[in-house]
Amino acid sequence: MHVVSLLLSTGLSFLFLTLVFRPLEMAFPAKAGQRFFRPAWWTDLCFFLGQYLLWGGLVFWVLVHFGSWLDGVIPSPFRRAVGEQPWWAQAIEVILLSDFFVYWGHRLQHRVGFLWRFHVIHHSAEHLDWLAAHREHPIDSIYTLGLINLPALVLGFRLETLAALVAFRGIWAIYIHSNVRLPIGPLRVLIGAPELHHWHHDRDRDAGNYANISPLMDVLFGTYRCPDHEPESFGLREPIAQSYLGQLLHPFLRRQRQPPRPEPELAAAECPPADSTFAALASSERNERPERHAGTAGMAPSPSQIRSRPRLI
Ligand SMILES: [Zn+2]
Ligand SMILES: [Zn+2]
Repeated sequence: MHVVSLLLSTGLSFLFLTLVFRPLEMAFPAKAGQRFFRPAWWTDLCFFLGQYLLWGGLVFWVLVHFGSWLDGVIPSPFRRAVGEQPWWAQAIEVILLSDFFVYWGHRLQHRVGFLWRFHVIHHSAEHLDWLAAHREHPIDSIYTLGLINLPALVLGFRLETLAALVAFRGIWAIYIHSNVRLPIGPLRVLIGAPELHHWHHDRDRDAGNYANISPLMDVLFGTYRCPDHEPESFGLREPIAQSYLGQLLHPFLRRQRQPPRPEPELAAAECPPADSTFAALASSERNERPERHAGTAGMAPSPSQIRSRPRLI
């Protein structure tokens, strides 16, 4: 019976996401003419099914055990005081803290070879749409969801207060991968958008735009990038297996030792004329080289929320 309900919820989720995002992708395409069954569609479907049917439960199990371990570490009066704040204060704190953790955690994924081994799978997608958001190695999912939820787990935010934010972060992660381009003007320095995350999937490994729900962290730390057009192509410069199984095994395969990576130049922003305080800040941060989670909250999400959450970053 459990298997039947799992299959049913997976099928319904696929249908729901198709009905929400496919019309948007047809009405406002970032890459005009990209077909529904574009290349590697079946590989991404395997990632979608794997996430819903296999790995979602594992990721949830790890987070719950990690959370209970943290329960014993943080003094309970402190956690109680945090949980007694008004819901809106908790929401703001969790968004800011988890965005901070996700931003720096994501930058590390691009800098540290061991983390990149897993994260590279997400960046191997050469066609972005809502389904490609699910291309993520399960260990990469544990890492990212752990970071997203760390502030809430540590501080003791109440899950029920923040459940909607957790779900919203998952949906947002799908949206920013969709083949949609809906420019939002000056708001683009406050609210994350596909036009920003698509540049994160540029072929350059240090492409910038590491944040997810809000690009404020990118603006603050000088990795914000917002050209007025789409990248020419997505994907990687390094070779990688194309099959689902090959990609799952990829991080564990022996490889040639790579020389240490030099510090990257920060991504160029190429913004349209600065038209807000934040845009001005962004333009002051950029340099000249053009060259890449999930947005809500920091609590251990429910299994269905985990399943609804694709790659984040
Ligand atoms: Zn990335
Ligand atoms: Zn992505």
